[in-house]
Amino acid sequence: MLTAQKVKEMALEFGADAVAIGNIERWEGAPIQQDPRQIMPEAKSVIAMAFRVMRGSLRGVEEGTFFSNYSAMGYGGITYLYMPMTVINLAKRIEDEGHEAIPYGHQSDWRAIDNVGRDRKNFSVPVAPGRAIPDVAVHLRIAAYLAGLGEIGWSKMLLTKQFGPRQRVGIVITDAELEPDPVMKPGTLCNRCMACVAQCPAGAIPKVKSVKAKLGGYDVEWADVDMDRCNTCFVGAEIKTADNGMPDYVEPWNGIRKKPGWWSPFFKKPRNLYNTGQAVCGARGCTRACMIAMEARGAVDNKFEKPFRRRPAWKVDWEHIAKDSPVNPTDSAPVPAPAAAPAAPAAKPPVKFEAD
Ligand code: SF4
Ligand code: SF4
Repeated sequence: MLTAQKVKEMALEFGADAVAIGNIERWEGAPIQQDPRQIMPEAKSVIAMAFRVMRGSLRGVEEGTFFSNYSAMGYGGITYLYMPMTVINLAKRIEDEGHEAIPYGHQSDWRAIDNVGRDRKNFSVPVAPGRAIPDVAVHLRIAAYLAGLGEIGWSKMLLTKQFGPRQRVGIVITDAELEPDPVMKPGTLCNRCMACVAQCPAGAIPKVKSVKAKLGGYDVEWADVDMDRCNTCFVGAEIKTADNGMPDYVEPWNGIRKKPGWWSPFFKKPRNLYNTGQAVCGARGCTRACMIAMEARGAVDNKFEKPFRRRPAWKVDWEHIAKDSPVNPTDSAPVPAPAAAPAAPAAKPPVKFEAD
């Protein structure tokens, strides 16, 4: 017989770092486009799994010398490779026991709403009255919270006792009835220290403006994160358009030219890794600052001998670099230097790299 204990053992064996189970009743009142019952009307349980982001994958970003590891191994590799293998292997075992199971990693590319919940225009239509517009996108952080895996911090990130803000979430939706775990009381892990607010380079996490919801029997509140600001700064660009003569920075989604922010050493967004690779900001506020703060107050089970931040945080001086750089060495349309700019200097900060 399939038990919650057995399911959890299998999830850990297949590669999850933490697992918890929620019952489907906790989704009562969910928006139709995010409701797992729209995908499996007979669903009884949602199994939520955390896949840790290695603290080491953030090391190179922290030092300012190696950014790709976080985007590859801490982001895209987990989302598009490691997590799908785990959720599908767990779903197979559940189906071996005669219960249907949906291996749900990240299928958000086909969702009918964008990442702030707005309808995507002219994308898809419902197949019958009362049905959601395809694709439904189950809110993975909320699924994790409703399963008792952790709580939603002020930053909107899932915080767990095991890893703080350092994980991604995958789920299995199943018609197997499994013993649920208790929902974590809000405030258990997030103490509203606001380190995430102070260190987000986008200013995307407001101090006061919030989203409130009743979830799992609790009043839950998190910052109303400005995803447009985050999406720009996340890939390394500043919000405002580039001044003439500054390095260009082309946003991949709309071609608007921007300049790199002080949190990015790249003249333009590096190429994607595992369908992502855009995490140039290295989650400076919502993950790194939060992790540092949570570890400092002993709120994370995954302990380390040394603190994460060991040297002063760096900043790239783009004003100085731009004025002294005759061309952007990586852009197909080189940026002319300002009229008063000197010739190429003999020795510059080590910011150049091979073109894609
Ligand atoms: S940095 Fe502080 S306020 Fe922000 S999510 Fe983490 S614990 Fe909560
Ligand atoms: S990913 Fe970066 S820009 Fe976005 S909220 Fe986190 S710290 Fe801010």
